[in-house]
Amino acid sequence: MQVINPATEEIIKDLTEDTQTSIAQKLNQLKKGQALWSQKTIDERLEIIIRFGGLVKANADELAEILTKETGKPITQSKGEVTGSLNRIEHLKSNAKKWLSSEKIASGEVIESITYEPLGVIANISAWNFPYNVGYNVFLYALVAGNAVLYKPSEYASLTGLKFKELLHQAGVPKDVFETVIGAGSVGQHLLEADLDGYYFTGSHKTGVHIATTVAHRLVPVQLELGGKDPLYVMDDVQDINQAAINAAEGAFYNNGQSCCAVERIYVDERIYDEFVAHFVAEVKTYKIGDPMDESTFTGPLTRAQQIDIILNQINEAKSKGAEVILGGDRPDSKGYYLNPTVLTQVTHNMGLMKEESFGPIIGIQKVSTDKEALTLMNDTPYGLTAAVYSSDENRARKLLDQLNVGTVYWNCCDRVSPNTPWSGRKNSGLGSTLSYQGIRSFTQPKSYQMRGL
Ligand code: NAD
Repeated sequence: MQVINPATEEIIKDLTEDTQTSIAQKLNQLKKGQALWSQKTIDERLEIIIRFGGLVKANADELAEILTKETGKPITQSKGEVTGSLNRIEHLKSNAKKWLSSEKIASGEVIESITYEPLGVIANISAWNFPYNVGYNVFLYALVAGNAVLYKPSEYASLTGLKFKELLHQAGVPKDVFETVIGAGSVGQHLLEADLDGYYFTGSHKTGVHIATTVAHRLVPVQLELGGKDPLYVMDDVQDINQAAINAAEGAFYNNGQSCCAVERIYVDERIYDEFVAHFVAEVKTYKIGDPMDESTFTGPLTRAQQIDIILNQINEAKSKGAEVILGGDRPDSKGYYLNPTVLTQVTHNMGLMKEESFGPIIGIQKVSTDKEALTLMNDTPYGLTAAVYSSDENRARKLLDQLNVGTVYWNCCDRVSPNTPWSGRKNSGLGSTLSYQGIRSFTQPKSYQMRGL
């Protein structure tokens, strides 16, 4: 398998893909390793994960460079992810023991308690856009809970995945407790036929549904963190229109729009629409597009060449239905999978751009006249990951946020994930939760003890 740098289109590395046989061997080893790993105390397992965090910190520059070279993520954003994702380890440090320890529920004649046992060996099939954040949400939490992990990094972030393995082993996770599977979807398919004790997936809705239906007959836990079409609504009472535009632009264009919770569509009250759009475009024009290894670059190439056509098709379809491209809409004349940041107005929900995940540097800004109209449009999507409202009035914002069918709502912020609250999608955005105490328990199975003394 060839690893290609999306900024230069050069081959960086040749890797050997896993096969059905190598996966079976790894799984066999992991089953043995998990039996011993689960007998360690939570504190012992945590200590190893904390050591892993220290190694990541010590090697942050090298790790960020690897991430940038294989995904095209601008280097400052790669550094931000490598160090920022360590907050998952802080969360585990403060909370894992509390939520994984056994609980005494009743102490009458029959003593009743619950223990939280690991599942066994779980598959973590992952995405490339934030491999640290979404990887940690699964494999670090699963390991602390006493599971072994068969981690399949995305084929677009394999070098990062191999680094996770190296550093986890160096930190003290036994070799037969964490293993990687290298390859694309056809290799991932072998995992669905193997005897794993749970499937934790981050990726597209299409692959998520395929995984869930393929393994359904096995009756093991399946958790899906999928895509989104996240809306942001700016009310007419917003305190600072320029600041709202700056935040919205960053939410839409950070990591080239390749975030599951990127702002994918914007609604603005008609009374402030023109002013908002002017500020928004002015802000996007300041983004430097270019070499992702350059510290001053904000917009690098897309990670996958094939996404360019998907986005250009959305632009062309929207234009044919009356949308106006007021910025970008084309590709710079250079090597690499680049696309200029694109802003469209005169958009409607008859256009794919406002309904289907774009996962790139493109945004439609639609005018609305009431909160009710905004709410209807925000909920008009098969997805349900996040939604944001900008307003100076918390009650007015909350009234709307309460009626949105999504897993996370934001007031005066957007495109953010906190380890303290559950990360979960509704409808086509997923099933189950990572992070928070729900995420700590996601990798366990409860056992109830009912004990009557003689
Ligand atoms: P993808 O579905 O193409 O691939 C995800 C993973 O699944 C990869 O490792 C891939 O090799 C593997 N895969 C593909 N076919 C498979 C099969 N038949 N069997 C087993 N494994 C298979 O998604 P992607 O392009 O890597 O990720 C982008 C998507 O992920 C976007 O939709 C994005 O919104 C979503 N995402 C969601 C979250 C979240 O937390 N909700 C986070 C990051 C990304």
